[in-house]
Order: sequence, then C-alpha cells, then structure tokens
Amino acid sequence: MTTVNLLDFDLEGLAAFCERLGEKRFRATQLFRWIHQRGESDFTRMTDLAKSLREKLATAAHVQALPVLTQHESADGTIKWLFDVGDGNAVEAVFIPEDDRGTLCVSSQAGCAVGCRFCSTGHQGFSRNLGTGEIVAQLWFAEHFLRKHLKRDERVISNVVMMGMGEPLQNYSALVPALRTMLDDNAYGLSRRRVTVSTSGVVPMMDRLGADCPVALAVSLHAPNDALRDDLVPLNRKYPIAELLDACNRYLAHAPRDFITFEYCMLDGVNDTPEHARQLVELVKKHAGQGVSCKFNLIPFNPFPASGLLRSPQPRVLAFAKVLSEAGVVTTVRKTRGDDIDAACGQLAGDVKDRTRAAERMAQRRAAASDSTLRPVVIHPARKTAAHSHSQER
Ligand code: SAH
Ligand code: SF4
Repeated sequence: MTTVNLLDFDLEGLAAFCERLGEKRFRATQLFRWIHQRGESDFTRMTDLAKSLREKLATAAHVQALPVLTQHESADGTIKWLFDVGDGNAVEAVFIPEDDRGTLCVSSQAGCAVGCRFCSTGHQGFSRNLGTGEIVAQLWFAEHFLRKHLKRDERVISNVVMMGMGEPLQNYSALVPALRTMLDDNAYGLSRRRVTVSTSGVVPMMDRLGADCPVALAVSLHAPNDALRDDLVPLNRKYPIAELLDACNRYLAHAPRDFITFEYCMLDGVNDTPEHARQLVELVKKHAGQGVSCKFNLIPFNPFPASGLLRSPQPRVLAFAKVLSEAGVVTTVRKTRGDDIDAACGQLAGDVKDRTRAAERMAQRRAAASDSTLRPVVIHPARKTAAHSHSQER
C-alpha cells in the first residue's frame, strides 16, 4: 500500500488527513509539532499521541526525508546539500550562516523552464516540479541536522529564500502549502518578512501569491529595458517590464514589507554601464507616474563555462551602485558566499543535465557520498558582512 508523506501537508491539510483517519482535527497540531518542531519521523516515538492514532499513522503515513547525496562546507561556513529526488534528478539547498541569522536557500524545481542566459539551472532545462514535501524536506532536514550538529535547542534557520533551483511561481500549487508550513508557529514559525520568494516575473502568480500567502518578494530584473531583458530572461517576452512593475505595485498592497527587492545580476559589458543604471532609476522612479518602492541587490555574476558571459569588474559594480544610491534607490552589493563549493547563486546545477548518463553519475555520487555524506562539518563562526548575502532581512 502506498502511504501518504506527511511533509506534503500544511497544518490544514494535516487536519483534513486526521479527519480522514477518523481522528479529531486538533490531533494534527500535535503531530505537526512532532514532525517539524522536533524533527521526529518515527510515530512510535511520538509518545503523547493517542496510541490509536499512532497505529493508524504507522499503516497510512510516513515522513519522507530526501536522501542526501553530498554535503559540502565552504571555508566561509556555507553548507550545500545535494538531495536525490529520484530518476537521476537532484536538487540543492544551501545554508548561509551569519551573525544575526541563518538563511536557507531552497529549491522549488529540478531544473527550470525559464532558461535565463546567465543561470546554469536555466541552461539545463526543466526536469520536473518538486512536491510540497520535497520543498519542505530541505528545510526539515537542514534545520534538524544543524540543531544536532551545533547542539542547539533553539531554531537555527531564521530565514528562507526560494532562490535555489527553479522558478517557484511556476510550481505554485506545491509552493504555497510549503510556505504555510514555514510560517506556521506549530512548525518553523518564520516571519513573513523572513521568507522570500524570488521570481523571474510570473505576473499572474505574483497576484495570486499576494492574495494567498504574502511573503517578502524578490524580483529578478537584470535589465532596464525590454530589448535586453527579452534576451536575458526569456519570460520577459510574455510579461514585459511595465506589466511586471504593475504587478510589483499590486503586490506591495499585500506584502509584509513595504518594498520589493530587485535582483540584478551584473554581467560584464551586457547590463552594467552607468547608462543602464540611469535607465533603471528612471524606470523605478517614474513607472506609471508613481514609481515602485524598491531596493536593489546587485549580484556579481557567478560564471559557468556554457554561459559565455563574464562577471562585471568590481569598480563597474560600485559605479553602478553609486548611480542608483545617489538617485535615492537603496542598493546593496551581494557578497558571494560559498563560491568555493559552487553554492553561489546560479551555480546550483544539481543533476538534471545529460540525463542519459544521470544514473551512472548518481551511482558515482553515491559512492563518493558514502564517505562525505553526513560527515561532521565544522561550522565556522559567521563573518560580519556589510553587504547582503542571499538573505533579505537582517
Ligand atoms: N527562479 C527564481 C529563483 C531562483 S534564481 C528567480 O529567477 O528569481 C535566484 C537568483 O539567482 C535570481 O535572482 C537569479 O537571477 C540569480 N542567478 C541565477 N544565475 C546566476 C548567476 N550565474 N550568477 C549570479 N546570480 C544568478
Ligand atoms: Fe530559472 Fe531563476 Fe535560473 Fe531564470 S534565474 S533560469 S528563472 S532559476
């Protein structure tokens, strides 16, 4: 008999499941706490649950973790996990420790269909959507692994950014219950301001997110005009900049924060001149006569060979930031974390490329993982940084 993965449910879904088992809905809260707050997957150890419920759960349900293929730790304390999601696909999650917070960067899809020119996930094409349980499993694993590892009773992960592999708003139905679980006080209890969905601009889904589950929003802009954005972010041909900015303003009416974060990947000679910066200022100050309340996060491009693109030199990034800042647009330059373990933005390649050889590579990874997976890692005290990393809230 196939049993149900309880990580697929938000609290409401779990309550409905309990009802289907002939149990009271409120039992779901206890069960939800055991799973998410305590990291327990064995029903026999959930000692304060009614025995009848435990017995029913043992036959009807399970808590499905994702197998860890590899775990790498960067010299800066960043940890990257590669999770097996079956059929030769793998996705990555990255933990970024800082003094005042711990951020987990989470994947929403194996591959991505948007196909941005500067993104290695995009270059690999789309394989499949993750289920809610597979999105939540990344947080479930990372949080409880880190608590044990750091010998901490209290929460380690304070922020989640949906900036791993995939376009979260193209996997909306799985995303929303996962976000609700992240926010639920009986689970991870994260603040809406500390859960960020990053999107390349799926306009209709931005409206739905605002209505269904408003969290902090980051929009990957990357260009100040449609001609350039059409080329870098192909989704722009469907939802051009003016429509995207209208959607940002509509979202702000629901958002937990009073600004949108615009991400802008700095590409040498492509989108990084002072003129581009001036066009951006014009755009965000004057759009629809009112502008868009926003901050900019300039991301140094993380190169990969197939892109044919290069990172903008630092002086050009700083000059670009200066144009924005001097026009009154709050701008940060993202510090690259986890560079040495390919955990930086856009390097989350997972294992979706070249699927013909996927099984073979997976076997090799498994063999390699047998000595690296779950090997104790040392978490270095986080360094102070002036610039942002993946995370959005201090
Ligand atoms: N699909 C979503 C979220 C995942 S990508 C989105 O596009 O927003 C997360 C962020 O990493 C995006 O801002 C994306 O533009 C950026 N990114 C992708 N490839 C990158 C690269 N090679 N170097 C730097 N940033 C990159
Ligand atoms: Fe997909 Fe985001 Fe990469 Fe674009 S940047 S291809 S939307 S994951």
